[in-house]
Amino acid sequence: MGQKYIYYFGGGKSDGSAQMRAFLGGKGANLAEMVNLGIPVPSGFIITTEVCNFYVKEGSYLEGLKERVSEALAKVEREMGGKFGDSESPLLVSVRSGARVSMPGMMDTVLNIGLNDTTIKGLIKQTGNERFAYDCYRRFVSMYGDVVLGLKPKEKEEDPFEVIIEKKKKERRVTFDIELEAEDLKELIYAFKAEIKRRLGIDFPEDPMEQLWGAIGAVFKSWNVPRAVAYREIHGIPNDWGTAVNVQSMVFGNMGEDSATGVAFTRDPSTGEKIYYGEYLPNAQGEDVVAGIRNPQPLNIETKTDSNAISLEERMPQIYGELVNIFETLERHYKEMQDVEFTIQRGKLWMLQTRTGKRTAQASVKIAVDMVSEGLIDKEEALLRVEPDQLNQLLHPTFDSKAKKKVIAKGLPASPGAAVGRVVFSPHDAEAYARQNEKVILVRIETSPDDIRGMNAARGILTARGGMTSHAAVVARGMGKPCVAGCQAIHINYGKEQFEVEGLTVKKGDFISIDGAAGELILGEVPTVEATVTRDAEMLLSWARGVAYLKVRTNADTPHDAQVARNFGADGIGLCRTEHMFFEGERINAMREMIVAKDKQGREKALSKILPMQKEDFIGIFRVMDGLPVTIRTLDPPLHEFLPHTKKEIGELAKTMNIPRKKLQTIVDELHEANPMLGHRGCRLGIAYPEITEMQARAIFEAACEVAKEGKKVIPEVMIPLVGHIREFQAQKDVIVRTAQKVMDEQGVHLDYYVGTMIEIPRAAFTADEIAREAEFFSFGTNDLTQTVFGISRDDAGRFWARYMEIGIIDEDPFIHIDEAGVGQCVKMAVEKGRKSRPDLKLGICGEHGGDPASIDFCHKVGLDYVSCSPFRVPIARLAAAHAVLKQKHKKRFVDV
Ligand code: PEP
Ligand code: MG
Repeated sequence: MGQKYIYYFGGGKSDGSAQMRAFLGGKGANLAEMVNLGIPVPSGFIITTEVCNFYVKEGSYLEGLKERVSEALAKVEREMGGKFGDSESPLLVSVRSGARVSMPGMMDTVLNIGLNDTTIKGLIKQTGNERFAYDCYRRFVSMYGDVVLGLKPKEKEEDPFEVIIEKKKKERRVTFDIELEAEDLKELIYAFKAEIKRRLGIDFPEDPMEQLWGAIGAVFKSWNVPRAVAYREIHGIPNDWGTAVNVQSMVFGNMGEDSATGVAFTRDPSTGEKIYYGEYLPNAQGEDVVAGIRNPQPLNIETKTDSNAISLEERMPQIYGELVNIFETLERHYKEMQDVEFTIQRGKLWMLQTRTGKRTAQASVKIAVDMVSEGLIDKEEALLRVEPDQLNQLLHPTFDSKAKKKVIAKGLPASPGAAVGRVVFSPHDAEAYARQNEKVILVRIETSPDDIRGMNAARGILTARGGMTSHAAVVARGMGKPCVAGCQAIHINYGKEQFEVEGLTVKKGDFISIDGAAGELILGEVPTVEATVTRDAEMLLSWARGVAYLKVRTNADTPHDAQVARNFGADGIGLCRTEHMFFEGERINAMREMIVAKDKQGREKALSKILPMQKEDFIGIFRVMDGLPVTIRTLDPPLHEFLPHTKKEIGELAKTMNIPRKKLQTIVDELHEANPMLGHRGCRLGIAYPEITEMQARAIFEAACEVAKEGKKVIPEVMIPLVGHIREFQAQKDVIVRTAQKVMDEQGVHLDYYVGTMIEIPRAAFTADEIAREAEFFSFGTNDLTQTVFGISRDDAGRFWARYMEIGIIDEDPFIHIDEAGVGQCVKMAVEKGRKSRPDLKLGICGEHGGDPASIDFCHKVGLDYVSCSPFRVPIARLAAAHAVLKQKHKKRFVDV
């Protein structure tokens, strides 16, 4: 226990400072700091968090605390010129909580302490305003009754004080509290006190000291009320931090027309523009500004939208000038946008709070970049000021934050962004509606490659089943479309074309909105705001590039996606899933033909149809990625995603293949796998049918040679999936190298190229040293690696993960944030073993974790060379890669908040 547990501030001096948040809480530390800066703050003192911890543990106050509080109170009296409990010139105080980090609304506050039937007379005399004085008194009695004495309404009962007020207003035939007169308020006070006596059997404490200690104890106790405990749990705030208590002299903004109260931001919190932004109310108390009964007025002429409004700048120009000086002092000092509260009492300005202001993503970026050009912070600091995930908001349309919304269910936040549209249940309907320029949301139990066109036509995708790496999630992210996946609360009935959720029926054609960043399903149309990558964001990302060690590539399967990613600054392609190129229309039939072919001849026939399609795509991709590496993965189709399912599909395919339908049905049945994600996938397919790999190698190298002949720089990297044994790799590499040489000889072009492997099977990680002797690069497929390390199907995990998280078996979904202790160890081991055999081994990650900031931090720490993620996550990954470097560099500052 430290020595000092009361910190005084006021009269230009304070014992504390902003650095002492741990002891003084955020609010107190900043009040102390403002005093140090010469800013007018009503005097007061802070009881430290250590005292709270002692009180919470022992149920009593530290020895000597009472005396020290009295001493500090005497100092406040001297400074403010009043006396606590005095009948002539009473000092009133507020008691507020203040944790190390802000826990808005979680703990308690009591205002106007020190009022009783005697001191009220002094307050009336002092102010000459009887109504004001009784208004303070009735507010105090009800607040104290509620917070300190614990007079809470019974279940389903209205607040008893409110009931009394309402009765009085009815009696007086008025609508608002403000219309009640002094005499009415006086009667309310008696009625409140009588209610306390009736319900609790105690008298309202008249002794100001008793009131003060009651309030201090109540604030300490509020540290452990259930809502505060829950808040700490959610936000990872340790229970032993405790709250400080701020005891501060009251100042009043409701003392007449020369008084006012307000809140302000030192920059616009929604755009980040450097304008002072805020509102105030003349002749009012702080809570009136928030209560919304009276319309607050703008702070200055610049932000005035209503010509009838009178800004503070116009009403009290001198005070406004003082306020602006304070804003400048605060920003220069904190080097951060501040959110302040102030009160003007009879023409004198007092600051009551300053803290870092909350802001939108756009404002966050603009403020960080502007502050660099203003010389307030350096570029590294600016980078750290923006959370990578905030950029999400910038890259996708978002819902208007002011709009009302009715959330009817929650699923996984599979692909960020806001989408609004009519519900459709089939890809066909999605396309049909889209052709009529109708916005639609495609709602499916789960999606399959057949749905791709429908997904493309839809504004957003909602699925009832599937996880963060389900087909819907991966494809939607690739498309940059909002997606809520695994929304288990919805029960879809395709036949009736409707889904039910919580007793509600949503039919085809009804409007819904989905928030892919929050995983929310909302009924009706919520207005959206379009996304823009501002010049400020571009600037910030260029700084990130300069700082980051990790390169950022993209997972892209089409020239269009590749272009989007390049526009976002991708450093190449880290994963081109060649099977994804066959999701669409005619192509899926060619692919199906190849899969169900009974013999080599049949396969070669189908492959000859596929080759030109693949080559065309590769040409497009190589052109877009001129000068940058392009990793193309050989075929890895989970068979169940590609096999025809419905009678119609089987019928159509049988026709194309010119074989009887029944025969095809038998083949499909034979190909059925009990566990397709662990089945005949990846290199296993290429090993069984080398002609598939040969066709792909030919398509890659013919495309590469053609684009090289156009004068472009092509850097192909051919990647083999699902390798577990060195000999699997060797077998496939042989086919690729042989074919590459043949094509280059035919084309008369020489290209440098690389052949590497995915590491996505634990055995590959264990034998990474062997594999690295043959493989020129590794790319960690952490989707499959997570599946195989946990032994949990990536497609089915969604069903029980939520429960696991709820009861604390796992803290977070390992398919979203890499599981460092398990999967991460595999990665680390493979990195070490791989680099031992081949020091210049290129290392990357292309699982979904490649776009997740926490996982990117891990990738940096284990020394990967690049991460690869969907195009829309490239900027996020870039910033996260810079953060990883800066966090290591400034380790200390992240230890404490
Ligand atoms: C992986 O497994 O992490 C990966 C990138 O491959 P896919 O998701 O295509 O299996
Ligand atoms: Mg994989």
